[in-house]
Amino acid sequence: MKLIDKDNKKPTTGFATDAIHWGYKPSSHQGALNPPVYMTSTFAFESAEQGASIFGGEEKGYFYSRISNPTVALLEERIARLEGAEAGLATSSGMGAICSVFWSLIQHGDELVVDQTLYGCTYAFFRTLVEKFGIKILAVDMADLKAVEEAITPKTRLVFFETPANPTLRLVDIAAVSSLAHKHDALVIVDNTFCTPYLQRPLEFGADVIVHSATKYLGGHGDLIAGLAVGGAEMIEHVRLSGLKDLTGAALSPFDASQILRGIKTLEIRMDRHSQSAATVARYLDSHSAIEAVYYPGLESFPQHELAKRQMSQFGGLIAFEVKGGIVAGRALMNSLKLATLAVSLGDAETLIQHPASMTHAPYEEEVRQAAGITDGLVRLSIGLECVDDIIADLDQALTQEYVELAQAG
Ligand SMILES: *Cc1c(COP(=O)(O)O)cnc(C)c1O
Repeated sequence: MKLIDKDNKKPTTGFATDAIHWGYKPSSHQGALNPPVYMTSTFAFESAEQGASIFGGEEKGYFYSRISNPTVALLEERIARLEGAEAGLATSSGMGAICSVFWSLIQHGDELVVDQTLYGCTYAFFRTLVEKFGIKILAVDMADLKAVEEAITPKTRLVFFETPANPTLRLVDIAAVSSLAHKHDALVIVDNTFCTPYLQRPLEFGADVIVHSATKYLGGHGDLIAGLAVGGAEMIEHVRLSGLKDLTGAALSPFDASQILRGIKTLEIRMDRHSQSAATVARYLDSHSAIEAVYYPGLESFPQHELAKRQMSQFGGLIAFEVKGGIVAGRALMNSLKLATLAVSLGDAETLIQHPASMTHAPYEEEVRQAAGITDGLVRLSIGLECVDDIIADLDQALTQEYVELAQAG
């Protein structure tokens, strides 16, 4: 009995339909509406000969859940479908996906070109690579296409960025950077965590591989840690058999895979709500006298708003902003919120607020962090699914005139 149901792959269905049904048919599984969770580490062979041929790759089959598992495989099929990719791979964290992809594709002497603004642990990963493994990393501001063009050489193996970038929300033009990279046969890897395939599909703009922290919007409920990667079938198979199987071992639990399958069923309606509410909150913050600057791709004042409209269908649930009075005022604001939860992570039902410079982006050296636009006064807000009026009322009770004056006085 196969969990992946090839008959159920109708090519014309829409996003939400695929997010709910793709690759699964209840009638093949005792009528179970929800896919069974194969909580097993290993799989029995029918004979010693069959075991040998599955191990040898002549026969397809499951044998050990670090490499593949039917519940995890359904999630992989579904994310590949939603991203428009040939194949997918699930891992036990977003960092597990990033590390599995990179360790599989690079070798000593390669050069990588990466954006200067990245999730803190991804930045720390690249820094470790340069120092220990003889791989040259060029970090550039990828909003500057001239800088990208100069950095990419025939030695460049991979180009990596997030768009929008964590935490500043600065965008990268996926099509433009992909075409520069492809001139030198470099592969383009995009971290699509902030958008999910519902808001942005980087492969359609020329990217080669997409990675996700499924911990965020895809899981959507703040109850698990997971990662995903999608790309061409051959490359993903290589990442599975090298990066995941032997190098990181970052295998996803079948239980967590089933939780993500559940999360993805409501992805479309959740992302609609996150995006609508974030747009409302961004406009509120933008008009508030205590706020110095608001970064939200959906605001007309956002410097890359035109690019945002080209590559994103809506603008997502994350807002970054600077409070007048810098870090002191920012801390005072975070401490006086009552509904928003002071926590890292993002993409949950709960509104979360955090301070990148001292939290998610603490791995950055100070000067590098400042150059990447992650200033001490920057606050990152992940808009949840609560009533937007309540989210705004919470910010409003915190951003009083007294607070602003107090914060500015230090
Ligand atoms: C959280 C995050 C990661 C890391 O994912 P984990 O699931 O925490 O390992 C990578 N990239 C981005 C953009 C993130 O927000």
